[in-house]
Amino acid sequence: PRLHVEARLGQGLVLPLERAQAGYLLTVLRKSEGDSVLLFNGRDGEWRGEIQPQGRKSADLAIREQTRTQPAPADLHYLFAPLKAARLDYMAQKAVEMGAGLIRPVFTRYTQGERIKLDRLRANAIEAAEQCGILAIPEIAELTRLPAALDTLEPERLLVFCDEDAPVADPVAALRAACDPAKPPPLAVLVGPEGGFAPEERARIAGRPNTVALSLGPRILRADTAAVAVLALVQAVLGD
Ligand code: SAM
Repeated sequence: PRLHVEARLGQGLVLPLERAQAGYLLTVLRKSEGDSVLLFNGRDGEWRGEIQPQGRKSADLAIREQTRTQPAPADLHYLFAPLKAARLDYMAQKAVEMGAGLIRPVFTRYTQGERIKLDRLRANAIEAAEQCGILAIPEIAELTRLPAALDTLEPERLLVFCDEDAPVADPVAALRAACDPAKPPPLAVLVGPEGGFAPEERARIAGRPNTVALSLGPRILRADTAAVAVLALVQAVLGD
């Protein structure tokens, strides 16, 4: 199993586990004395810890050796209009699994999502990182209005804008034509709300240089479907 911990990680440290994590290891996974757990905190790489039960419901982890060094964080920016809570969790988890390095909820005119709970987004990102085996936890940015969100993108960052109104064309060819696939620029993807972008927002996005309006085909996808599709495409065509 892989566990995210907030604590510092290093050779020979002994880490008292939180009750929930100890319970998960000892009762759910039925781990016992000497069994190994992989630990990461998002900064110090990945370390192997050995379980030292302290009674039925608590355990320490004796940290042995480092198993992976800390990689550079992913650089893909994922901008999306928040949806209802449950699907918001899903979008955060899929963004992490699909290689986003920064997750930025964007407030648009037709956004329906409730108030964004950033700590909930971060908890989802950590859970997804545990599950998919990455060590660098993506940054969760503050909820940002669309114009300000676009301004956070460096000029050289190619913005892939999921536009259901773009002429239906081969998205792979469109991505390849928008940059040099052999040396892809920094990337960002933008997915709109269930209600779509307002006309003035669409104009603002299209007005940004270094932006490609990408059609994902003739069907209107739900925002969370479009998000996974575009992240998969970008990784497949331009991924590092
Ligand atoms: N205009 C849509 C409609 O008529 O229902 C509303 C937006 S759609 C449900 C949600 C978002 O997913 C869009 O803002 C867009 O970013 C993305 N999307 C959906 N289908 C797409 C497609 N075929 N190509 C590109 N992006 C798409």
